[in-house]
Amino acid sequence: MNAPADSAAVRRGNLSLVLRHIAAHTPCARTEVAASTGLVHASVTALVADLMQRGLVREDGAATAGGRGRPRRLLRLVPERVRITAAHVGWGRIRVVTTGLAGDLPDVGHVRSAPGPFGPPEHLADAVGAAVTEAVSSPGSDVHPGALVIALASPVMSTGTHPAAPGAGRSASTLAALVAERLPGLRCPVEVVNDADMAALAEYHALASVPAERQAGTVAYVKSDAGVAGALLINGRVHHGSHGLAGELGHIPVALDGPRCRCGAHGCLSAYISTRAVCDAVGLADLASAQGPDAAVAALLHHLRNGEPRALAALDRAGHALGAAVQSVIGITDAEQIVLGGHLADWVPWLAPGIDARLSARRAAFPTARLTITPGTLGPRAALHGAVRTGRDRTFADPTTVPPARQPIAGPGITP
Ligand SMILES: [Zn+2]
Repeated sequence: MNAPADSAAVRRGNLSLVLRHIAAHTPCARTEVAASTGLVHASVTALVADLMQRGLVREDGAATAGGRGRPRRLLRLVPERVRITAAHVGWGRIRVVTTGLAGDLPDVGHVRSAPGPFGPPEHLADAVGAAVTEAVSSPGSDVHPGALVIALASPVMSTGTHPAAPGAGRSASTLAALVAERLPGLRCPVEVVNDADMAALAEYHALASVPAERQAGTVAYVKSDAGVAGALLINGRVHHGSHGLAGELGHIPVALDGPRCRCGAHGCLSAYISTRAVCDAVGLADLASAQGPDAAVAALLHHLRNGEPRALAALDRAGHALGAAVQSVIGITDAEQIVLGGHLADWVPWLAPGIDARLSARRAAFPTARLTITPGTLGPRAALHGAVRTGRDRTFADPTTVPPARQPIAGPGITP
């Protein structure tokens, strides 16, 4: 028998349920929490008291008439009680943001130029440690450091203890430990994740918050910005695969004798839809090397809007390649939604005919199978949104990780 451990786990689970409800429906009454969670009112009262003692929830100053009986006070999340730090390690720069449990991203994060997502893990850890140190001040005693989530623009392996070779997948646990060593004052768990996984998660929730019937069981995500990457979500969770490498759509072969990819193979999707491949095909390579990739991408969009034949042909070819890759993905996963992120989201009007042409036979063969191709809505900050969501989820999953507040936010009339 293991009753004490079981009852502690049940209590953690119930605290999580109540905190998630209050976070999603703030402000709300205890009766609403009880109705929504299925917990009895007395339990909700005790659980809310625990969350208030930890400073995660407070009672609203204003009481509302509850219809009958005594007036009720509404409950509010205290987002600033927990600090979430998220870093996105892209190509050549690291962005760091800090936020609270509400998960809103500040307009301006801290940006530091960095060696990029590849190279020795020690160098990467040095750069991340320096960027976070610059961006984050030590928290006050009433702020609990919840998590640091680092999203890397390179594959992240969930297994293995050895530092990965240059260009190979990073070991998440190794890199997290190296970063934690460099930030002894941070006092919070460090998690290393893949940026496409985070972007996919954020886009999924942004899209799913619209109509319920649009929520898909299996979703594939593919993005093209500095590199091509992807992710697979099953019922709203990242499917990591055996090593953390599932959903990397960039290296799905779409042609037997296609151009050589940077990974060494031939005919990878990446060689057709990467920003560099498309800009090269349109004759924008010189502009890209003189003024940078952003200038080339802006020029490409201008050409597309003006109907320039080379630009239209390049996007048509990219659309066909993407359609072939999607065909492979749905053949294996039966995904019902494909979300296009990064620059692909802006290119959808010109990619769609090629994608549709490739998928027409499959659609005819399985006319009742749903398949939507959806542009992402979050732009280049999608990965940071997802990293923040992942960091918040640590507290939401186990509110007992937050210790009792020094000054419990218990009573009404206390300003946040
Ligand atoms: Zn490749």
